[in-house]
Amino acid sequence: MNILDIIAKKRDRLELSKEEIDFFVEGYTSGEITDYQAAALVMAIYLNGMTDRETTDLTLAMAYSGDVLDLTRLGENVVDKHSTGGIGDKVTLILMPIIAALGIPVAKMSGRGLGYTGGTADKLESIPGYNIEISVEEFISNVEKIGISLMGQTLNLAPADRKLYSLRDSINCVESIPLIASSIMSKKIASGANKIVLEVTVGNGAFMKNVDDAKKLSETMVNIGKLAGKEVVCVLTNMDQPLGYSIGNTLEVIEAIEALQGDMEEDVKQVVLELGSQMIKLAGFGDNLEENKQKMLDCIDSGMAYMKFLELVQNQGGDVSYLNDVSKFENAKFIYPVISEKSGYVKEIDAQKLGKISCELGAGRIKKEDKIDYQVGLIINKKIGDYVEEKDMLGIIHANDEVKLEKAIKEFKTCFKILE
Ligand code: URA
Repeated sequence: MNILDIIAKKRDRLELSKEEIDFFVEGYTSGEITDYQAAALVMAIYLNGMTDRETTDLTLAMAYSGDVLDLTRLGENVVDKHSTGGIGDKVTLILMPIIAALGIPVAKMSGRGLGYTGGTADKLESIPGYNIEISVEEFISNVEKIGISLMGQTLNLAPADRKLYSLRDSINCVESIPLIASSIMSKKIASGANKIVLEVTVGNGAFMKNVDDAKKLSETMVNIGKLAGKEVVCVLTNMDQPLGYSIGNTLEVIEAIEALQGDMEEDVKQVVLELGSQMIKLAGFGDNLEENKQKMLDCIDSGMAYMKFLELVQNQGGDVSYLNDVSKFENAKFIYPVISEKSGYVKEIDAQKLGKISCELGAGRIKKEDKIDYQVGLIINKKIGDYVEEKDMLGIIHANDEVKLEKAIKEFKTCFKILE
């Protein structure tokens, strides 16, 4: 067997066998197959797709390309959550402390930003001192001690996905159903939870642009879950505009803190409650979704959810004084309000473009070795359906570089379609 024949087969729209998929995954993980050969195969998969059988084989090969965590120490039902990604998606930071405060163990590994979407691992690292690079033993014992641990993907879990994920990002091959389904499910299988709630985002700021594709992705992931003995529930959420009011690492952490203190944007609240009520159900803590949502709201009102977040941050070395006084977070050098040039209703917002602007300001990576600038990003003042007066503020740009700021100002205005 050789990689050139495998590339040619997929290029010519033929189905790959399990042995060929295993050969590719093993060879790429060990370094015998080069980045450029893997890039050619990934592009062929992107263009020609995969059958459900190929997607399942790719998922399992990636899941078992490294260690597979055993979380049985944490109980019979360990529930995990994952999102296909979005713009301004700070849901994990808010949802997981609520779930943990309700007594359900939370052991979650999160990724870094991908393409124009942000990643929870980068957001957590914007809290001074927070350590996402902990050992498995520390990860599990944190959950035993305080009920929650959030870490990065630093363990040797699904290393094939880690390599493929950044390769796809660097060759613009992210938005593919078999590649996304296998990427997410391989990580979920390797990270040990037996019950998983998946948020599948749909809209111009998501990898899935329409509901049909989002449903297809959901079905694919639920089926892979069944084959791997995992109960998977998918929730479709809208990503036609950024979620909440902030995009960027520190800015989103601040919004998450406010949300946990009881001041949560309506759209964020809907997603948090929808996903959380399903997680509570899967954990065996209540079958009635409406009652589960009320439990979550009570948990925020009582201050328990915020206290859990403080405990999490402190336990992983973070400086909680920043959370209790967010003015301690260092501001970007330039904070520039963008003013509307006309009055009318906001008809559309180009969420994907806002994500790209934020990424180019430094909140995400253009190349995989780029360093994140935690302070930069965007504040969105107007959402779809809002009325805007001429000279109202559409949003605020936080930038550390004058040239990048100038470019962002020009582009920011074009993201809002305002109809008189
Ligand atoms: N999230 C993932 O983990 N992988 C993808 O491919 C897309 C979103």
